[in-house]
Amino acid sequence: MSDYLESVLAKVKEKNAHESEFIQAVAEVLKTIKPLVEKEPIMKKTSLIERLVEPERIISFRVSWMDDNGKIQVNKGYRVQFNGAIGPYKGGLRFHPSVNQSIMKFLAFEQTFKNALTGLPIGGGKGGSDFDPKGKSDAEIMRFCQSFMNELYRHIGHDIDVPAGDIGVGAREVGYLFGQYRKIKNVYEAGVLTGKGLEYGGSLARKEATGYGLMYFMREMLKANNLELKDKIVTISGSGNVAIYAAQKAFEYGAKVVAMSDSTGCIYDENGIDLEEIKRLKEVERLRIKEYLQKHPNAQYMENTEGQTPKVYTIKAEIVLPCATQNDINLETAKLLVENGVKAVGEGANMPTTIDAIEYLIKNGVILAPAKAANAGGVATSALEMSQNSMRLSWTFEEVDKKLDCIMTNIFKACSDTAKEYNLGIDYVAGANIAGFKKVATAMLAQGII
Ligand code: NDP
Repeated sequence: MSDYLESVLAKVKEKNAHESEFIQAVAEVLKTIKPLVEKEPIMKKTSLIERLVEPERIISFRVSWMDDNGKIQVNKGYRVQFNGAIGPYKGGLRFHPSVNQSIMKFLAFEQTFKNALTGLPIGGGKGGSDFDPKGKSDAEIMRFCQSFMNELYRHIGHDIDVPAGDIGVGAREVGYLFGQYRKIKNVYEAGVLTGKGLEYGGSLARKEATGYGLMYFMREMLKANNLELKDKIVTISGSGNVAIYAAQKAFEYGAKVVAMSDSTGCIYDENGIDLEEIKRLKEVERLRIKEYLQKHPNAQYMENTEGQTPKVYTIKAEIVLPCATQNDINLETAKLLVENGVKAVGEGANMPTTIDAIEYLIKNGVILAPAKAANAGGVATSALEMSQNSMRLSWTFEEVDKKLDCIMTNIFKACSDTAKEYNLGIDYVAGANIAGFKKVATAMLAQGII
């Protein structure tokens, strides 16, 4: 890193001392954009990097709601509107007990560059709450979502900020949020939220988009390195929205997914995971992954131990897809993956790999599909949902899927061309960071000092 970028990072650390995830996300980007900053001295001259690491706005608010026992619960709500230079803020809402300002800021920061990479006119934002949806009744989820929207509605709009789902926020939650927005505003503004149900403005293929998009990116990345998915053994961390549809597409491409997980542990089924059963357990019944054994007694279940490598990464695989949460793969886990002969890692989750683990994997010849690029299919399809909403029409599944494939293929090309331009070899992480950063920076420069 140059002295200038070091000094920017030092300031970020000083100003955001308790926000380790945000500092990590900024460090990862700053470590890779040195060649760009050297080539474009105007960035330093106009303090562009300093401006880009500061969110445009952070909204934090109280969410009070009543549980089924009549007790009043209070949670924290957030919306970080990080950068609106290329379009309305866009990014999901996460409901998980670990949510705090640092996690919201890291996600919104990454989202800014991810959205730029899609080639679509969307800025970067993210939001959520430390509310834990696990074990809550439908009525409790609805009351929480309504209370959350009672504040959020004043900060969003189809030309202002368009939230969607993320961990803990799926079609059910988006439905309750949309209903409350419509009630308060007395307007049918379909494009204010994405990930909606098909009956009220949702897009076909949005549910599948992040997982499918990840595999379209993987297909292109493997092809560029003379590899393919066919006959490869795949393991996936997570069993939520991204994980399920990545698994589905991996099977379609002839790979065999042998393990999936949730936060408590993983299942290993050497014959290949029964994905319909995972969908039933996770999308319908909302049960723990361990219940897979009820129908498949010959599969194995391995429980995670706090502070140790999640068990899903101990299983031998050629392709590993972290699709759960941030910092899932640390240096120790990366070493284990290399020892086990992994060829490629595809980041479905946001920032699932620590910086030292990324460096170790790349140094050891593992091809890594970086989250900012590889999981952009979800937000890209959300933007296609917004387009359909404003045109008041619906495209078929095949039309949306084809556009998604084309977008992911172009994103891989942008990462790979940039990596080539700057002599970065297979470092697609740097390729993605530079390509995304350049677009946002250019838009900011054109818009003056604001
Ligand atoms: P879901 O809520 O559908 O699923 C999350 C999965 O990850 C579950 O299996 C969950 O297990 C597991 N998980 C969550 N938190 C942890 C944790 N702290 N430790 C271990 N496992 C955990 O979320 P999504 O599939 O939508 O999101 C997964 C990742 O993909 C996130 O990083 C998200 O930001 C990213 N992403 C999602 C997009 C989307 O369109 N949905 C778009 C781009 C990125 P459990 O049920 O036990 O909590």
